[in-house]
Amino acid sequence: MVDYDVVIVGAGPAGASAAYWLGEAGKRVLVLDKERLPRYKPCGGGMSRSVLERFPFDLSPVVEREIGRVCFRFRDGREVEAGLSGQRPIVMVMRDRFDYLILQHARADVRDGEQVVSLRQDEASVELETRAGETFRARTLIGADGANSRVARLAGLRRDKQMGMAIEVEVPADDGLLEKYSDTALFIFGTPPFGYLWIFPKAEHLSVGVGAFEGRGTEVKDVLRQEMAKLGVEIDGAPQYGHPLPIYLRHEPLHRGRVVLVGDAAGLMDPLLGEGVRHAVDSGRIAAEAILAGDLSGYTRRVQREIGGDFLWALRWARAFYEHPWGCFELGVRNPRFVKEFVRLLAGQTTYRRMAALAPFNLLLGMGRRLPAE
Ligand SMILES: Cc1cc2nc3c(=O)[nH]c(=O)nc-3n(C[C@H](O)[C@H](O)[C@H](O)COP(=O)(O)OP(=O)(O)OC[C@H]3O[C@@H](n4cnc5c(N)ncnc54)[C@H](O)[C@@H]3O)c2cc1C
Repeated sequence: MVDYDVVIVGAGPAGASAAYWLGEAGKRVLVLDKERLPRYKPCGGGMSRSVLERFPFDLSPVVEREIGRVCFRFRDGREVEAGLSGQRPIVMVMRDRFDYLILQHARADVRDGEQVVSLRQDEASVELETRAGETFRARTLIGADGANSRVARLAGLRRDKQMGMAIEVEVPADDGLLEKYSDTALFIFGTPPFGYLWIFPKAEHLSVGVGAFEGRGTEVKDVLRQEMAKLGVEIDGAPQYGHPLPIYLRHEPLHRGRVVLVGDAAGLMDPLLGEGVRHAVDSGRIAAEAILAGDLSGYTRRVQREIGGDFLWALRWARAFYEHPWGCFELGVRNPRFVKEFVRLLAGQTTYRRMAALAPFNLLLGMGRRLPAE
């Protein structure tokens, strides 16, 4: 039996972020992950540069590409492009290296290859057991174990969660393709229903994928193969990774007793785009702050206020966008003012709520200046 102040289950960005901030404050922290680290995580790996700046150490060594252009493609093949001005605000990483670098900066004990299978909590502590039969005890437990969180299930949280699904493929690309997409993030809208596809450049390959908040896996896979073939990206032969997407539908409790959920385990993924790394990192920090303050009671409310509130706006955008993709392409994606706002959103410089407040003006003012869609 080992005693810790905090045990964190999951060494993704949520768990690593919490471990970092707790370790800095002198807490005795243990991180457990069921995989051998660093581990592969199916992910586009696209994020706002501001995520790197949330830590006081240098994460730039794991940046594979910096994005200078965003391209929006509709299912009928028409494309709209937008250049990004100034310091390139969107970066691409490989998640195994990114997550592990954060963890390496954390003053925490790390045990990989340890799958948590049960937990028990009482007034004073939480006790965990791993598949290998080891037991750990802590004053607080952070569930950072991703979309299928076993910690959430064992703690009786997020019982009615709903999931979308995504498939991600790391495609070896020839020099021509790599050059073509080297500084471009491409989004394809209008297919599959309630989802989109992407091509993100990495140092030596392309990361391509599809995410869908509704629909069946086999259909989504076919859409991915067909749409990528149109762009000359051949995915057959490359390993394809499926992964669930938690869907944020409403506010719900994210802590119970001595157990706190962060990141995907707490369902903190944006329901329009599926962006989750930024929110994982932020919720990890918020959990650490609540633990350091010795008061978990306000944790759920703070996450709802600082992260979840905007997700409810994202949900409205998602419904409009996915139910009326053609109209949104014509009125939104071809409208330079909307595109500018959307790029700011990707860069973490605005919120869905603010975008909604500005929408009537942007709709009117951008109407007469529609971007060419070729
Ligand atoms: C295909 C795809 C593409 C995406 N693209 C992007 C993108 O481009 N940008 C973006 O911001 N977000 C993206 N996301 C979302 C992003 O990947 C997640 O939001 C993010 O990984 C959440 O981090 P996390 O730390 O909460 O969980 P995870 O990164 O999933 O980490 C959870 C960890 O817990 C461990 N674990 C699970 N169960 C146990 C257990 N029982 N015991 C011990 N350990 C356990 C796992 O091994 C894992 O290491 C994408 C998601 C998918 C599926």
